[in-house]
Amino acid sequence: MTPISDGALTADAPGASSVAGGELISTNPTTGDEVARFPVATADSVAAAVARGRAAGAWWEGLGYAERKRRLLRFRSLLTQRIPEVAALMTSEGGKPSVDATLEVFVTVEHIAWAARNARKVLGPHRVPGSLLQPEYAGRLEYRPYGVIGVIGPWNYPIFTPMGSIAYALAAGNAVVFKPSEYTPAVGQWFVDVFQEVVPEHPVLQIIHGKGEAGSLLCRSGVDKLAFTGSTATGKKVMAACAENLTPVLVECGGKDALIVDADADVAAAADAALWGAMTNAGQSCVGIERAYVHERVYDDFVRRVVDGAGKLTYGDHPGSDVGPITMPGQREVIKRHIGDALAEGGRALVGGPDSVRGPIARPTVLVDVPETSSAVCEETFGPTITIARVSSMDEAVAKANAVPYGLGGAVFSRRNGVRIARRLRTGMVAVNSAFSFAVLPSLPFGGVGQSGFGRIHGADGLREFGRASSIAVRRMPSTVPLLTFRRTEKSVKLGHRIVKLLHGRSK
Ligand code: NDP
Repeated sequence: MTPISDGALTADAPGASSVAGGELISTNPTTGDEVARFPVATADSVAAAVARGRAAGAWWEGLGYAERKRRLLRFRSLLTQRIPEVAALMTSEGGKPSVDATLEVFVTVEHIAWAARNARKVLGPHRVPGSLLQPEYAGRLEYRPYGVIGVIGPWNYPIFTPMGSIAYALAAGNAVVFKPSEYTPAVGQWFVDVFQEVVPEHPVLQIIHGKGEAGSLLCRSGVDKLAFTGSTATGKKVMAACAENLTPVLVECGGKDALIVDADADVAAAADAALWGAMTNAGQSCVGIERAYVHERVYDDFVRRVVDGAGKLTYGDHPGSDVGPITMPGQREVIKRHIGDALAEGGRALVGGPDSVRGPIARPTVLVDVPETSSAVCEETFGPTITIARVSSMDEAVAKANAVPYGLGGAVFSRRNGVRIARRLRTGMVAVNSAFSFAVLPSLPFGGVGQSGFGRIHGADGLREFGRASSIAVRRMPSTVPLLTFRRTEKSVKLGHRIVKLLHGRSK
């Protein structure tokens, strides 16, 4: 396959969604053709959805873990059977190449199955250890659903990303009101409709449509918790809106992930992962590899391989392209600016260059010799670009990787020290000798630190994120050392003191 023609490259940049006559109109990012339209949510319709969700949530919780598991597993089966249908929709609405769309659904169904199968074990009632000081009390802990969870999602992985919150929230027994990105409402509507086939009785999973305003209404709607995934700038607005009602939030934001290559690494594998991690989904991945720090002993070999691979990637609006279009018109300007800044500040483009971005298409771009202070190194680019820097030690690599305010994911290539280096990265997740692999292991929590947000989706932590701890202490026998009563005696306090000294009073 070859790169697309210059004619397509010089096309105007379509793809912006619009609102007309109270409807959100979603369009194809390269052709601008209308894909679907939906009524825009109002304050009243959002309030009504949350009220319906509250009743539906009570019913859903009452079904219990076993029945919820059965329904969620049926949901994941339907999604699996209909992968070609949803992948085609993801391509027409978001421009995502069909293989990327298909892989996204593979990973999504794995997560739904994991959440369904593990909810009872992680969240269900269980005993917790008592205290030697007061052995008469037994502890019971369980995680009860919050009620209604608001989920706000981005467009770049329009099914995988929101489902990281939705599936785990549903498995925990909550109802969900979902606001998809204005760029991918039809994909959101599609899977909500599929869910309603397996849960037709009550609106346990609902969707509202609109631009940022609809998200803002959801934040203020009185939902019991809000799970947001999107940019750091919007994450801050979401937190501020949720603060008005003290609504708890989970905030999954952007990143500037680094890949580190040590001198003992398998350089071919590292270059392959760097290329894929940087360019897949046209670089529009929160955990996309945007920077590489490579030991000087293997730097030239690594750069040669990445350049060679990047030069062979196909890009354009064909659904079979390796690198598809940039979905969001505004992002095209950001990518252009970062490449321009890098080149103006002394960087060199070994693949691509100042004209990498034309219309909705961004050509894979490999940059070297870019100052660490450049926007291309410090800010989220969200496009098919990578900067590669030479380092003389892993200390230098770690320091540079950690020198950005983001802390989402990362990758390390080393035969001997992968995990040791990984543990030094100030991020929520690291892949060793691979890229992105933490996202496909359902048992691993996913989330970041710093400007990448807080809270976790996926894994046991991701389930607990959608349950409130319900702690119950049960007296199971009379107290031998009664302390929690005004009828305590001098003798019982003295005895208590002796026990505390025995348990905690020694210096070692
Ligand atoms: P945005 O922050 O622009 O939007 C995210 C969602 O928030 C959209 O649904 C958007 O609606 C909505 N929104 C916009 N304004 C408001 C508001 N004031 N109140 C409430 N909601 C609002 O992000 P993108 O959609 O552009 O997604 C890309 C970003 O998401 C990148 O930074 C990427 O790194 C990050 N991301 C993070 C992930 C993670 O897990 N950490 C995973 C995937 C992406 P609308 O689109 O209609 O404006």
